[in-house]
Amino acid sequence: MLDRYINLLKTGEVVAFPTETVYGLGANAKNPDAIQKVFEIKGRPSDNPLIVHISDKKQVEDFASEVSDDAHKLMDAYWPGPLTLIFKKKPEVLDIITAGLDTVALRWPKHPLSQQLIAMAGPVVAPSANSSGKPSPTKAEHVKEDFGTDFPVVDAGETEIGLESTVLDITSKPYTIYRPGAVSADEIERVTDKGVIRDSNPSNNETAKSPGTKYSHYSPKAKVRWISDGDTTFVEEALYLLHSQPTPRKNNRVIHYDGNFKKMAHELYDRFRHADHQQLQYVFIEPFSEEQLQNPIVQALENRISKAIG
Ligand code: AMP
Ligand code: MG
Repeated sequence: MLDRYINLLKTGEVVAFPTETVYGLGANAKNPDAIQKVFEIKGRPSDNPLIVHISDKKQVEDFASEVSDDAHKLMDAYWPGPLTLIFKKKPEVLDIITAGLDTVALRWPKHPLSQQLIAMAGPVVAPSANSSGKPSPTKAEHVKEDFGTDFPVVDAGETEIGLESTVLDITSKPYTIYRPGAVSADEIERVTDKGVIRDSNPSNNETAKSPGTKYSHYSPKAKVRWISDGDTTFVEEALYLLHSQPTPRKNNRVIHYDGNFKKMAHELYDRFRHADHQQLQYVFIEPFSEEQLQNPIVQALENRISKAIG
């Protein structure tokens, strides 16, 4: 079933495939022309570097010039899985991947189809398989919505986690999380026995060390807003995402997660896209409490929703 996609990757074409986080847009990590297509298809700014996806810990050595003890501890604890690590790069790593930085981001995804694809076709760069600025795809249909019905997508239904990987820079001291995800800061601190800077979100975009953080992301056309305490009116042309407050009115535009934050993360981008299909004006989301924000998946949700609000 994968043969066609493996061949496409080997011949310099671009293929979308499922990971456990979201669908990725893969291109051979050794082929600059193929990688250029990824930027063109997505409309991605060329100064936003790409994550290289591998299928074996050994492949790290093809891209990273230094692999520290902590890197090994983190890889042993979380790979394959939703943790991207930033290493000092080897000189031969293509500039088009790293946007000219001296570092390279690596991840070994967990989804069995992504593993087979990479094992057969070799390491691939893979940003999320959406047009730049749109919510990341969590279904093959989302990819086709953005890139056309004929676009080659390995379809494996819905992705499990639904939010992108944690991105951790282990070249900085202290280590810095550029993007929170399912692997939490607390877990990273426990494994490395070192403090980490959490959810670095530099307000001065020019000096952003993870260039992707300066671009708007994850947003539907509908305006995304937190529900604030004083809000009592029910807006018709809106989707409501709630998780603990009593439902103001029961209908299919009021979704209640009842504390199931995994489900909320799993569905968030699909709900965003759905709001646009229905041409809704707003997505209103119940804010998270300090206590809920102890939960790593809630931290990741808060991060993506805040960015969608802009
Ligand atoms: P995406 O491809 O949409 O999943 O986004 C990948 C994220 O990883 C973006 O925010 C990039 O800026 C970030 N990233 C990739 N490579 C590096 C790197 N070498 N240094 C810092 N951030 C990186
Ligand atoms: Mg993306």
